[in-house]
Amino acid sequence: HPAVAAADVVKVYGSGDAAVHALRGVSVTFAKGAFTAIMGPSGSGKSTLMHCLAGLDAVTSGRITLGGTEITGLGDRRLTLLRRERVGFVFQSFNLLPMLTAEENILLPLRLAGRRPDRAWFDRVVDVVGLRDRLTHRPGELSGGQQQRVACARALVTRPEVIFADEPTGNLDSRAGAEVLDFLRLSVREMGQTIVMVTHDPVAASYADRVVFLHDGRIVSELAAPTPQTVL
Ligand code: ADP
Ligand code: ADP
Repeated sequence: HPAVAAADVVKVYGSGDAAVHALRGVSVTFAKGAFTAIMGPSGSGKSTLMHCLAGLDAVTSGRITLGGTEITGLGDRRLTLLRRERVGFVFQSFNLLPMLTAEENILLPLRLAGRRPDRAWFDRVVDVVGLRDRLTHRPGELSGGQQQRVACARALVTRPEVIFADEPTGNLDSRAGAEVLDFLRLSVREMGQTIVMVTHDPVAASYADRVVFLHDGRIVSELAAPTPQTVL
């Protein structure tokens, strides 16, 4: 089964005259280990689609499956548990806790889930994001790019099947953005994660294996890289 799939997903906000049709029948699958970018103009439904795929937002109709489990219709409790186990998030605004060190921020999802850190995996993630010598720093002592790499490590520490990234380079300069994207691509190649990234930046999208274009709540086209780009 694919890592994530949407079948004929419709999302309507509000009702009557005030109804906004954010998604008008979206069907798309994300294969395990693929790095996909979702692009489209502002208001085309990118964030709504990502939130529906991640189970953060309920669909109006249609079905979403995450790791083979249908999530449409699951209660909040089960959905929260499923997200905790299978999904990692990276947001535009890094969402790190300022009073915690980088290491404590990275380990937070495990602490919240009451899980014991897998030290070997933690070390691997920290080395891949290149933060070994920054672990004792607090977010305020890190650059924007380093903070976002901490956020990426935090998203990976639970070994999620899927990482959802919403404009992960939106607050970064182009060089820091490239570091974060290199890392996301590396995590796909090295650790087999599936990444779904919303972006309106063509440079960011160029790191993906596949680009899905949304317009007015529909998928209007798709591009796939001919061969996975070689890293290193
Ligand atoms: P994008 O991420 O591509 O900018 P969004 O998914 O944020 O697009 O929005 C798609 C449409 O849904 C827009 O018309 C937006 O105004 C509307 N929308 C998004 N969230 C809400 C909400 N919570 N309530 C009402 N309308 C919303
Ligand atoms: P912005 O693009 O305005 O900076 P973010 O990218 O940080 O916002 O967040 C995008 C969306 O994800 C928002 O609708 C926000 O409510 C939601 N969100 C942000 N942080 C979390 C979180 N830790 N868990 C769940 N949803 C979140």
